[in-house]
Amino acid sequence: MTIAASIPSVGLASAAGKAGPAPRREAVGVDVGGVKVGGGAAIVVQSMTNTDTADVDSTVAQVAALHRAGSELVRITVDRDEAAAAVPRIRERLERLGIFVPLIGDFHYIGHKLLADHPACAEALAKYRINPGNVGFRAKKDRQFAAIVETAIRHDKPVRIGVNWGSLDQELLTRLMDENQAGGFPLTADEVMREAIVQSALLSAELAEEIGLPRDKIILSAKVSQVQDLIAVYADLARRSNHALHLGLTEAGMGTKGIVASSAAMGILLQQGIGDTIRISLTPEPGGDRTREVQVAQELLQTMGFRQFVPIVAACPGCGRTTSTVFQELAENIQADLRRNMPAWKSRYPGVEMLKVAVMGCIVNGPGESKHADIGISLPGTGETPTAPVFIDGKKAATLRGPAIAEDFQKMVADYIEQRFGVAGKAAAD
Ligand code: SF4
Repeated sequence: MTIAASIPSVGLASAAGKAGPAPRREAVGVDVGGVKVGGGAAIVVQSMTNTDTADVDSTVAQVAALHRAGSELVRITVDRDEAAAAVPRIRERLERLGIFVPLIGDFHYIGHKLLADHPACAEALAKYRINPGNVGFRAKKDRQFAAIVETAIRHDKPVRIGVNWGSLDQELLTRLMDENQAGGFPLTADEVMREAIVQSALLSAELAEEIGLPRDKIILSAKVSQVQDLIAVYADLARRSNHALHLGLTEAGMGTKGIVASSAAMGILLQQGIGDTIRISLTPEPGGDRTREVQVAQELLQTMGFRQFVPIVAACPGCGRTTSTVFQELAENIQADLRRNMPAWKSRYPGVEMLKVAVMGCIVNGPGESKHADIGISLPGTGETPTAPVFIDGKKAATLRGPAIAEDFQKMVADYIEQRFGVAGKAAAD
């Protein structure tokens, strides 16, 4: 019996299974300064500054950098009078630079007071973030929460009720622990904690609605730092409400750890149709680039097929068949070049974000992968003839030789973009 004959036949229709995420959960849409979150809109990328908001120059520079990197909403800390006073100036300076990205104010402890004392700040912000765990204690809590919600209603702004397990409402947690104990401990301590996180978000949303903030002005988040907890909490939140949801793993960590943890947790939730806006909370290295969190968020959404932000560069990982670093450098240069040019290209070359480029290290998979890309190159591996076939739209278009293969290919990519996505190229295609 051949191997093929030993594999049970399931028929072509069901052989490979269906690919793709679950349908997006239906969430009430929220307009955040012109950017729609939920309500069937594309999943929104957001980020947060780490500058002192009172330092207008550095905050404007970082908001601008985050926005240019692709952040569609930017959150800033509003922690004291000086920061609140700076917010309208930051808004104005950004607009003078032609940057209209909605700003979100992050408030803790004294948000009610800052918003009341600085109406220009309340107006300049597109959304307020409240953490129900540290909006005040005991009798003051509901009063101060209500004050922020009333300010939001007065200024016609949405609110994110952002629960964080590190600052979870202790009264609520204690009450649920007591109830669990009285009931004979049906839940583990972790389960009670997760229930407290979900209830904190839902009860706060209910209270905000009772005060008069409509559901289409409320976004919920419930951030924890462990992947499995995040998945469980958001699955529950999604099941128990139809509010728009902001996804984020808090304290995700530095470098690859933060990227992997955030991507694993959010990837699973997004695949289940859960999540309307995302933030990747990466701890930057000292002096590191804050925009990396935006890049990671975009790449997560793009690799999962939810959105298209920049052209994709497929590159092989390299192996013993190619010992030169030419293909790695070429792939890196092309990717960096595409990302750097995207802000200008978005309007100059509409649709360029759909481009697929392949940079491959040798003949084994090089021509095949290159043919699947819009434009691809198969570089010579060790011992291969020092030529590099280039494929355009699936057909061999040229063979590059000599020391300038990389530069020649970069030029071919630029020409291809101009021809296919430029005005002349579009006119010829029409
Ligand atoms: S394409 Fe060639 S160099 Fe790249 S991983 Fe495959 S065999 Fe190795």
